Amino acid sequence: MKGKGLLEGLWITLRHLFEREITIQYPEQMPYLQERFRGCLQFDYKKCIVCGLCTKACPNNVLSYESEPAPNSKKKILISYTIDLQYCMFCNLCVEACPTGTLYFNHNFELSEYQRDDIKIVYEIPRSAQAVISEPIDSPIEMVDSASEPVPQPDEAEAKKQKQINAMITALQKNPMKAVSKLVESEVQAQILADILQADEKKLVRMATMMIEDREKAGKVALAFVNKELKDRQQEGGAGNEPE
Ligand code: SF4
Ligand code: SF4
Repeated sequence: MKGKGLLEGLWITLRHLFEREITIQYPEQMPYLQERFRGCLQFDYKKCIVCGLCTKACPNNVLSYESEPAPNSKKKILISYTIDLQYCMFCNLCVEACPTGTLYFNHNFELSEYQRDDIKIVYEIPRSAQAVISEPIDSPIEMVDSASEPVPQPDEAEAKKQKQINAMITALQKNPMKAVSKLVESEVQAQILADILQADEKKLVRMATMMIEDREKAGKVALAFVNKELKDRQQEGGAGNEPE
């Protein structure tokens, strides 16, 4: 039929005329973003325990930090933390690796800058708020937010917590299998974990602290210890089987 194509075209135009609008007038109108949208990577220094897991997880070396040993102890102090966002591919690996929820994405997607260096985010940690941590993969320690606030003294709750940690250390030393049995899924894993903790006092103390402060995290770290040990054993076995 003559003019059929024209009618079809008009019909399509008419149909779209009454449809819900899909495009928006950005930047006057801002788009709706899903809850899990990954905008700009953020760092909440109050939670950081300077364990370095994020830097190891990042495939593009986006993350780096400076730390220094705390005076008269084996602890570390976080000095600054840098996110070189120009190399970030928003893969979320660092967020997943961070045991304390320090890293997260906000919804800010307007990240363009005139200068390359301006896209780098550097968190200089205020001296009064610098995180002091005991070892890698440790538990978060409260920090003071502003320079004007006095550093809080250990209170009763802190003393009570320390008592619980000490009790847990004793339990792990005396009967490690029983103490760790609820952290892992099988008896074999419990045995491996017990051996690891018995052989390394620092790990034992860290594990006891985590078990009191954050049970879920303690479970994850315990599993990581066990998996690493199994991997090491496998590698040793593999190396032993290699022909001379
Ligand atoms: S999102 Fe991926 S690329 Fe970006 S900092 Fe984290 S791990 Fe690195
Ligand atoms: S606590 Fe999180 S952000 Fe801090 S060093 Fe460890 S993994 Fe990185």
